[in-house]
Amino acid sequence: MKQHPEDFVKQITEQARPLEKAYYLAEWEAAVEGSNEAIGRVKDAQAAYMRFWSDPELFEAAKQLNKSGKVVAPLLARQLKLIYLAAGQNQQDEATIERLTELEGRVRQRYYNYRARVDDRELSDNEIDDVLKASRDSERVRQVWEASKQVGRQVAEEVREMARLRNAAARAGGFRDHFHRSLLLDEIDEQELFSLFADLEEQSQKPFAELKGEIDRALSARFDVPEEELRPWHYGDRFFQEGPQLGDVDLDSLVANQELEKLAAATYEGLGMEVGAILSRSDLYPRSGKNQHAFCIHVDREGDIRTLNNLQTTHRWAETLLHELGHSVYEQYLDPKLPWLLRAPAHTFTTEAVAILMGSLTFDPEWHTRVLGTEEEKAQSLTAAALRNDQAKKLIFTRWCLTMTHFERVFYSNPEADLDMVWWDLVERYQLLRRPTGRQAPDWAAKIHIALAPVYYHNYELGHLMASQLRKRLTEEAGGIVGRPAAGRWLIERVFSPGASLDWRTLVEKATGEALNPQYFVESFEF
Ligand SMILES: [Zn+2]
Repeated sequence: MKQHPEDFVKQITEQARPLEKAYYLAEWEAAVEGSNEAIGRVKDAQAAYMRFWSDPELFEAAKQLNKSGKVVAPLLARQLKLIYLAAGQNQQDEATIERLTELEGRVRQRYYNYRARVDDRELSDNEIDDVLKASRDSERVRQVWEASKQVGRQVAEEVREMARLRNAAARAGGFRDHFHRSLLLDEIDEQELFSLFADLEEQSQKPFAELKGEIDRALSARFDVPEEELRPWHYGDRFFQEGPQLGDVDLDSLVANQELEKLAAATYEGLGMEVGAILSRSDLYPRSGKNQHAFCIHVDREGDIRTLNNLQTTHRWAETLLHELGHSVYEQYLDPKLPWLLRAPAHTFTTEAVAILMGSLTFDPEWHTRVLGTEEEKAQSLTAAALRNDQAKKLIFTRWCLTMTHFERVFYSNPEADLDMVWWDLVERYQLLRRPTGRQAPDWAAKIHIALAPVYYHNYELGHLMASQLRKRLTEEAGGIVGRPAAGRWLIERVFSPGASLDWRTLVEKATGEALNPQYFVESFEF
């Protein structure tokens, strides 16, 4: 291809732009409606999008232009790199695209519409969480937990087939498997990632074991069972990714009688950021047929930013709403003058970092006094409990993320392995849970990310690391975060505005003055 690099980028942009928008809009509609028609439209829009990026000539041209080293203008070079990476991720033949989008559509349908059945009653995810969080009845939590896992059986075979297809495409391109290709073409070095995770495993080992001991003692008392009889259903959520609440303070009582939308708007207003328009475009409350998770989507890279939530007046949903709006403000304050391809976060984990940082404000003592209006004295007593829960949360999440990331590596290295066994081996190793006696079930497939957000989970952990670095810098710059417009300005200028014009390494260095590292995150493990 003898095209001029600028023309090449322009042409790709013009073609990719409407395809991406159609795909994202379809995703949004399917998530809020859950109807077969909407999910069918995602399948078609996704296939069109993938077909575009799968073009081998496009890939070859991007590769040559990247390799030539002739393009030195930074914005142009970065756009070429992103085109090369997107095309590389999507190299696969038409039959693979057809089959993969068909399987994804079917699986999406099952997850979105699945409601656990217990005693002839259908339970939403929120209802399941309520039972797991509050019940004192072992038999009841076991039933509800088991019902929540049934979706795994419904999708496991299809999810396995998706892994085979993704692997075949990756191998045809010379990669070991899909896991390898995904990381590499997302600018993550697999070895570096796993040595970082080994470090996190080691550094979290002792504090996590202590925390787990404390949780076990509390649960043993709450359920009136010996500690040896505690099983995964006792731990307060479906995967022990968050864990039960610690201490006597009921975090939910902190937000009782509050309107989460107003709290969120006030939180962002304090940072000098406007979220009213985003909230009004969002779909915030639960409904049957609607996707039960939460996410943020920037439909057109021109400001049509929306979030999906399933709000209840609980601490967890307050945190989730702030989290999704964290993604949203990142998108909203991208420099609008950037070319379309660069009008996106620097990396998936950099936007997770901002979202995690914002969600964690719900544990910040200043949030309680400045946003919730809690009296200083009462706030003092709550603060210690809230901080303790935040620390526990980071530890519990880290161990869960180790399970997920290691599982995905095994999953793609051999989708035919005894995955049910692999899953529980990892859960026992990293999360220190006891597997249910004699359980033979694809519990790994009950986690939607394995199927529909493959090789994504590590981004949350990297996001935690970066969030801790950002918090440290913001404390130096602005004395904290809540109610400080200077903190908001710093985030907009240093982190949001550059968008994808910088790769993540450069962004983290430039913004925080240090390379991405676990130091500040790990410091928070110690109680
Ligand atoms: Zn997120």
